[in-house]
Amino acid sequence: MQDDGLDLLFMLRAVRAAMRATRHVQARRGAAGPQAGAAIEKDDRSPVTVADWASQAVVALELGRLAATAPALAGLPLVGEEEAARLRAPESVPLLAEVVEAVALGVGHRVTREECLTAIDRGRGAPTKDAFFTLDPVDGTKGFLRGEQYAISLALIEQGSVRYGVVGCPNLPASGDRFDRADPVGCVAFAVKDGGAWIERDHGEPTPLRIADWRAGQPIRACESVESAHSRQDLSAQLLASLGAAGRPARLDSQCKYVVVARGGADLYLRLPTRPDYREKIWDHAAGALVASEAGAKVVDTEGFPLDFGRGRELSANKGVVAGHPLLVERAVARLAAMRGNGRP
Ligand code: AMP
Ligand code: MG
Repeated sequence: MQDDGLDLLFMLRAVRAAMRATRHVQARRGAAGPQAGAAIEKDDRSPVTVADWASQAVVALELGRLAATAPALAGLPLVGEEEAARLRAPESVPLLAEVVEAVALGVGHRVTREECLTAIDRGRGAPTKDAFFTLDPVDGTKGFLRGEQYAISLALIEQGSVRYGVVGCPNLPASGDRFDRADPVGCVAFAVKDGGAWIERDHGEPTPLRIADWRAGQPIRACESVESAHSRQDLSAQLLASLGAAGRPARLDSQCKYVVVARGGADLYLRLPTRPDYREKIWDHAAGALVASEAGAKVVDTEGFPLDFGRGRELSANKGVVAGHPLLVERAVARLAAMRGNGRP
């Protein structure tokens, strides 16, 4: 392994490049008019798919460039969410052309179709006990489609725990508490296990991330998914009311929620399972959870267990997520246990 600084720089470079690609796709959608999303979704070739594929290709190509300088890192499996099978179909030629264009913009040079397809499929690696990368090329698909929040999330998992995490948030303002609109600059949050967490805006000097200093009796600022299918909003309302919180949680898509907690913009992130059998995917949490915990947050599941990234592609030992100020997380987990005891799920 290389030293911390170098590994992280490579990962940051890859995520920044992927952000250029997804921004390009989103700008094209915008230019095509407000109906573009709906129309393209109908024929099942949504631009979000273009963004997903392009982002995964860019990250894989950037990590591939490591071969010369950091061969150990370059050889690690990449466990990504996407694969290229559908793009290889003859009828996908126009779609592939869009992907190639976005990838070229991301990496800053021309790429062939085959290079793109191969790069996407480089992300079909399997988790190992030793070390691997995990990538969500576009986390928060629905947010991307709405022009709201989404994230590009890249983590290095070593011996079952997250060592580095990078969360690119193309539409998230680096400060403030407005999450509902797309920021023109966005930000990138990153963390090193036991080393801290930082946020950078527009290639500026990174600033350390620290959660808000919440105390008992203070208002509770919570956040949760926009999508009610991803987190039980009825249960979070009950839980928050029982904790004495007023008002509704802020709703935003993707791992941007972890970043908002990390930078002190929310005290609590609730992800309460909508189905007992749903298991969270590692790429949906690895980078974000490290960013939040390195900023001082406690990150556990709804039963208070730490997230276990050593069980393959899913967090099979965990149910949902509760992250935030440690005191508040402990209270929330205890309330959830009591509610279960009362026969309330
Ligand atoms: P968010 O934007 O926080 O709602 O999270 C988006 C992620 O939710 C996607 O990347 C999906 O992998 C994940 N997801 C999909 N279905 C579910 C579900 N039933 N429960 C929780 N998360 C889900
Ligand atoms: Mg995701």
